[in-house]
Amino acid sequence: MNFKSLGMSEPLVQILKKSGIKTPTAIQQECIPLIIADKDVIAQAQTGTGKTLAFLLPLFERISPESTKTEALIITPTRELALQITEQAEQLAKAKKLNVLAAYGGRNIGSQLNKLKKNIHLIIATPGRLLDHLERKTIDLNHVKTVVIDEADQMLLMGFKNEVDQILRATPRNRQTLCFSATMAPNVKKLAYYYTYSPVVVNIEPKKVTLDTIRQEVVETTDRQKFDRLAQALQEDNPFLAIIFVRTKRRANELFAKMKKQKFNVQVIHSDIAQNKRERILKSFREADLQYLIATDVASRGLDISGVTHIYNYDVPETPETYIHRIGRTGRAGEDGYTCMFVAPKDNLEFNMIERKLRRNLPRRTFK
Ligand code: AMP
Repeated sequence: MNFKSLGMSEPLVQILKKSGIKTPTAIQQECIPLIIADKDVIAQAQTGTGKTLAFLLPLFERISPESTKTEALIITPTRELALQITEQAEQLAKAKKLNVLAAYGGRNIGSQLNKLKKNIHLIIATPGRLLDHLERKTIDLNHVKTVVIDEADQMLLMGFKNEVDQILRATPRNRQTLCFSATMAPNVKKLAYYYTYSPVVVNIEPKKVTLDTIRQEVVETTDRQKFDRLAQALQEDNPFLAIIFVRTKRRANELFAKMKKQKFNVQVIHSDIAQNKRERILKSFREADLQYLIATDVASRGLDISGVTHIYNYDVPETPETYIHRIGRTGRAGEDGYTCMFVAPKDNLEFNMIERKLRRNLPRRTFK
């Protein structure tokens, strides 16, 4: 199975090849032919499965560069996700000259408006900023053929349901709708069926290998000793690239201050940090100029940062699903990863739930 046999044309195949992408992933194998055949799709797939290209590639295949209308729209809940999709789309645009507009908060609206003077074939947007444009009548969705709703579960969680409804009402009724979600709780499912018309359901099991290739450990500690234990672990591990997860913005800022004081090469991202600053931080993390990134769950959701070798759960996540999401950032694509969670007595309830979900007891870390 290769991209050509899925119906991709040569220029796109070549561009993929240049980035070392030769074999379609499971979700790409399933989704690409369906999308090209104009089917509505509900796909359950997590970040790291290749889901972004699963919708971008057929969109790029189908949109004609000669078109003077916006033919495809991708809505995604966070700016970081919008940025990641845009980066991949701009890569593909080298093969096929389509104009891509990224419309998300924090980007200069003036430069977005300037860009709008050209024909825009594909829009990648967060709901708020897109509505802004719709209200200013700077974007016209009347000729959109395909809408992608990315991370539908997160969209609901962040309270964007009304915004998404409003946006979809601005698109033609006979559009093609593709709904992607990492999880399919009943409320997400209901919404996905509501937005689509006789959809084909695709379900890609999260890669089991990922968890199997991650070495997981636990440090039993107390709130008072936690920071010293973390610092000790970091000094022993000296990770190449590590993400440290905390539960709240305040905890993120506090930990950042403490680590800075000890001269760790660290930065922090959460939703109160300005968008352009977050982008700069993520860039330097991706390029490994930065060794440690402190993150809250919302800020980090869906981030694909290859090369993360270590994940530290400084705070125990509230649910087993969050634990799996967090540690899924490491050990990608068959690489080995390491994760370590700091558990205080008050975390026992959540911690037990995680072990039950994993169906095993996590080994306790021993320090040198
Ligand atoms: P996603 O699940 O869309 O967030 O993609 C995760 C990462 O996998 C991205 O960095 C992609 O560039 C990469 N990727 C996507 N499809 C493939 C593929 N068929 N082969 C190798 N890498 C891929």
